[in-house]
Amino acid sequence: MSLTDQFGRAITDLRISVTDKCNFRCVYCRSADPENHKPDHELLSWPELERIARILIGLGIRKIRITGGEPLVRPGVEDFMARLKSLGVRDLSMTTNGHLLADHCDRLVAAGMNRINISLDSLDPAKFEKITRTHSFNKVMAGIDRAQNSPLRPVKVNAVLVRGLNDDEVEAFAAFARERDLIMRFIEFMPLDADRHWTRELVVPAAEVQRRIEARWKLEPLPHERSETARKFRFADGRGEIGLIASVTQPFCGFCSRIRITADGKLRTCLFSKDDHDLRYMVRNGHTDANIADAIRAVVNDKEEGHRINQSDFVPPSRTMVYIGG
Ligand code: SAM
Ligand code: SF4
Repeated sequence: MSLTDQFGRAITDLRISVTDKCNFRCVYCRSADPENHKPDHELLSWPELERIARILIGLGIRKIRITGGEPLVRPGVEDFMARLKSLGVRDLSMTTNGHLLADHCDRLVAAGMNRINISLDSLDPAKFEKITRTHSFNKVMAGIDRAQNSPLRPVKVNAVLVRGLNDDEVEAFAAFARERDLIMRFIEFMPLDADRHWTRELVVPAAEVQRRIEARWKLEPLPHERSETARKFRFADGRGEIGLIASVTQPFCGFCSRIRITADGKLRTCLFSKDDHDLRYMVRNGHTDANIADAIRAVVNDKEEGHRINQSDFVPPSRTMVYIGG
């Protein structure tokens, strides 16, 4: 069984947001208000999430990434991941801000998690505090160290670059990748921030990042699957890799293989979808697995051709990143 959309794209990757709560308030994602998350009864329970995941796995999903909000703030996430693994997910991963990672790493590995992405938007503790509105720099670094010393190695570290905020650190991040032998990924800022501060001028194009790194070190392109978000390079003279995620300036929608389930049970076919589709209602109102699978197939068939950030009539979605799951 496989899921395909109207443009012939095979949908094999699922991102599950397990919570819209977060212990950080990154300026490019959440607003400063700490209490702006949905009430617990609106979120899917673990068994409800597992049921939807099982149906989707039956429809051909092979890769699952757990995200949020911050996935490690929801108790029980390791058990949920172990259940997903037992359902036959080959590639199970998580995106985390790293604050709680050092404490959870062993249990995540034991649950069968294969890979991890850790967000780190500055190597300067003061700037890190300004961006995340936390004092967690040392905890995140400890989380990265712990993951690097686990079977999750090599870890991917994600930085969202925002012009005037952390774009002066491109070379420092590249040096960090080399020193630590990790994969440093540069993500273009997308119009999904709660404060609606995004403008095109704040986006640091991936081409600029590549140019600046190549001015100092020779890069060699690495092969990647067409559906992957990052263009990947290694350093010709040493350890470490970089990934460039040019969602705004060089969209990769043509080969997109992803769909998303939000923490409140909505199916989204694109980060920038105008509408989402209510699987929570189906799960809570007696629909059979077959009904739900039919609904999923119909929604996926209509997956958007691509995001419209670069069109003059672009309107950002009403749900911002923390309520979708990146
Ligand atoms: N809390 C976890 C974390 O920060 O890694 C997981 C959820 S977070 C929404 C997932 C990813 O989305 C992170 O790498 C984060 O940096 C990225 N992100 C958040 N807001 C973004 C934006 N406006 N543009 C681009 N990436 C964004
Ligand atoms: Fe939280 Fe991640 Fe959003 Fe930062 S990017 S506010 S850590 S969900």
